[in-house]
Amino acid sequence: MTSTESVNYMSKIYDVAIIGAGPAGMSAAIYARRAARSVILFEALSVGGQIVTANEVENYPAIKKISGFDLANELYEQADALGCEFEFARVTEAGESEGGLKRIVCEDGGEYLAKTVIIAVGARCRKLGLENEERLTGSGVSYCAVCDGSFFKGKTVAVNGGGNSAVDDAIYLADHAATVYLIHRRDAFRAEDVKMEQLASKSNIILRTNAVVEAINGSSLVESLTLRDTKTGETSELAVDGLFVAIGRVPETEVFSELVELDSSGYIVAGEDCRTKHPGVFVAGDCRTKSVRQLVTAASDGAIAAIAASEYINSLK
Ligand code: NAP
Repeated sequence: MTSTESVNYMSKIYDVAIIGAGPAGMSAAIYARRAARSVILFEALSVGGQIVTANEVENYPAIKKISGFDLANELYEQADALGCEFEFARVTEAGESEGGLKRIVCEDGGEYLAKTVIIAVGARCRKLGLENEERLTGSGVSYCAVCDGSFFKGKTVAVNGGGNSAVDDAIYLADHAATVYLIHRRDAFRAEDVKMEQLASKSNIILRTNAVVEAINGSSLVESLTLRDTKTGETSELAVDGLFVAIGRVPETEVFSELVELDSSGYIVAGEDCRTKHPGVFVAGDCRTKSVRQLVTAASDGAIAAIAASEYINSLK
């Protein structure tokens, strides 16, 4: 954009614009507000990010057990009470403006100015990429067991994946469905041992390891899956009413590809200090290059990014 184009900016200049209201973004908002910075937080969907879909969270220090939904609400109430402003809109553009300010543009046309930006957009569910996957999403294919599990009372479902999410989903679904098949492409699971122990205690979960879903079959609803044995190459049909896909996440960073450096998987390149190569732009949580993507590390990133943003603002004076 050239400086001669007329743009209807909001008059307020925020200290910190945070994009994404998951645990990383909310933690950043809490820290930035406690540092007396003005904060606007953009969220395209609902507060909480991925954690909203977690049935039970048991690994956040000092909280023995809480549902993801309740944790998200607590975070929201805390940030709100501290005076964080929320804007429920999808950010479609983020870049430089005049005077070193950052400009944020939303899908609804809203434009905002801030001294710093913290990108905390997390990641979205990875898809299998199968022919009927999109067509049957909502008709048996789901990416959220907590959201859709109750539709499968007494039915037969499959979960695909071998990480914490897949195992969590299978455990959750075992209390709703009659039978749960957990399909994983290898025979070793990434999920934590404690989760594997919980899984083993559920008598209606059947493991199908060394298997990949090759096709999702059904005209208007999911009726069966075609599985391929990765060792023998043999295919077989598995009759199911639903398929829950839990094969990891991909970062939602396309919008920022011009502003910051992305690695080959789309994660925003930054170290533990959460500073990107772009001055005044920070990144927190699962969308950052890092080795451990957990609730507690996302919250930690939020704090680090907010403190770094605050220091950056001080350096402008
Ligand atoms: P993840 O740990 O990356 O696991 C993804 C799983 O999907 C892996 O088992 C992987 O198989 C499999 N997979 C990937 N692509 C596939 C494909 N195209 N076809 C078939 N299988 C495929 O992802 P996640 O379970 O969503 O967890 C993400 C992060 O959140 C992790 O750090 C996890 O620990 C964390 N998390 C924590 C909790 C908690 O309670 N604390 C709950 C949920 C998630 P391979 O193993 O063969 O690669």
